[in-house]
Amino acid sequence: NSRFDHQAIRKQFPTLQQQLGDHPLCYLDTAATSQKPQCVIDAMNDYYVQDNANVHRAAHQLSARATQKYEQVRQQVKQLIQAGSNQQVIFTHGTTESINMVAHGLTTQFKKDDIILVDGAAHHANIVPWQALAKRTGAKVIPIGLTPSGHLDLSSYDNLLALKPKLVALSHVTNALGTINPVENLVAKAKQQGALTLVDGAQAIAHLDVNVQTLGCDYYVFSGHKMYGPTGVGILYGTLDALNMLDPMLTGGEMIKSVSFEATTYGELPNRLEAGTPAIAEVIGLGAAITFLSKLDKPQIQQHEREMLSYLQQQLSQLGDITLYGVEGSGLADNNATSTNNLGAVAFNLASEHHQDVGILLDQQGIAVRCGHHCAMPLMQHLMIKGCCRASIGIYNNQQDIDRFINALNEVKLMLL
Ligand code: PMP
Repeated sequence: NSRFDHQAIRKQFPTLQQQLGDHPLCYLDTAATSQKPQCVIDAMNDYYVQDNANVHRAAHQLSARATQKYEQVRQQVKQLIQAGSNQQVIFTHGTTESINMVAHGLTTQFKKDDIILVDGAAHHANIVPWQALAKRTGAKVIPIGLTPSGHLDLSSYDNLLALKPKLVALSHVTNALGTINPVENLVAKAKQQGALTLVDGAQAIAHLDVNVQTLGCDYYVFSGHKMYGPTGVGILYGTLDALNMLDPMLTGGEMIKSVSFEATTYGELPNRLEAGTPAIAEVIGLGAAITFLSKLDKPQIQQHEREMLSYLQQQLSQLGDITLYGVEGSGLADNNATSTNNLGAVAFNLASEHHQDVGILLDQQGIAVRCGHHCAMPLMQHLMIKGCCRASIGIYNNQQDIDRFINALNEVKLMLL
């Protein structure tokens, strides 16, 4: 299709145009953080060069411009995820902070023996804040069971829902294996049992169309840096009721209505949950990333990413001596998935070699992949491995990247096996 000029997209990412020694960089670690297009870098730079001022405070023009740019991004995020209103979009510093704000903010709502169900394959950011909440309140965290291949076990989920959990914490897409969960269905079932629901969208937001109203969840969280935006900014979306239920984790300036030593009152959403000076440049950078993505043909990008991922899976499985994790059919394919129920990432090990050795030898050939437990130690325990390598893709990756990766892995194989 003539509208799809992949080379032109790739060219907009300056970091990708570099050599690592004798090798051009081959970046397959987008699930850890995506590279940034020039327009995001420029937008942040422009803010510091032209508009640098604090938001929401002063009467002067710079502050007005900064505030206008900052609030414009709230509107963009609202549209991106189809939120009902701007008040429902809270700027945070990332997914981790967003989940902590919810877990902390619900403390007074929880009591001893209340149940929190957590995706057994979740990122630590969607496990540890719930454990801390449980410690504060006497509630219990129960992991949702996994199938042998590391997918959510729907019958375990149904059984646990019968315990009437107070909250269910899900991953839209898992970071370690790239599993797409049928969250709309999972959320609907949790709601039938009266549970609050949080969906971690960190790995979904750059790849899928996210509509929080059809998902029906109470909270949806993600990070800017996984969607071609900067680090240091993230989103907490919630329904008005769910956000109003939260006690602010941070208190101070910006979030109050009035302060006195006798009686301080808090302001309205979204300010009530945004104490202190926010990450203004980063929010503006996130806005530029959303604009960048909105100019691309989404179905074509999604198609391209699916093609790259299945090519990657297929090439890896043909290489031999490779164990792939999380790709066996589990019957859990989301409506959005086509030939595969994975998104963005492939996890693997080379024979019985240590994942770290494989990663280092790939790096020596200019290939960037992530090796380790991927902040999902319970999932690794379930798979009975210490860790694995993960190759993940973004909009800029092409077939040549994957061929280079496979050739390099073949070299590693010759060296190690
Ligand atoms: N959840 C998932 C699924 C993730 O992939 C990540 C980032 N690796 C996080 C949460 C945490 O995001 P952040 O580090 O940006 O707070």
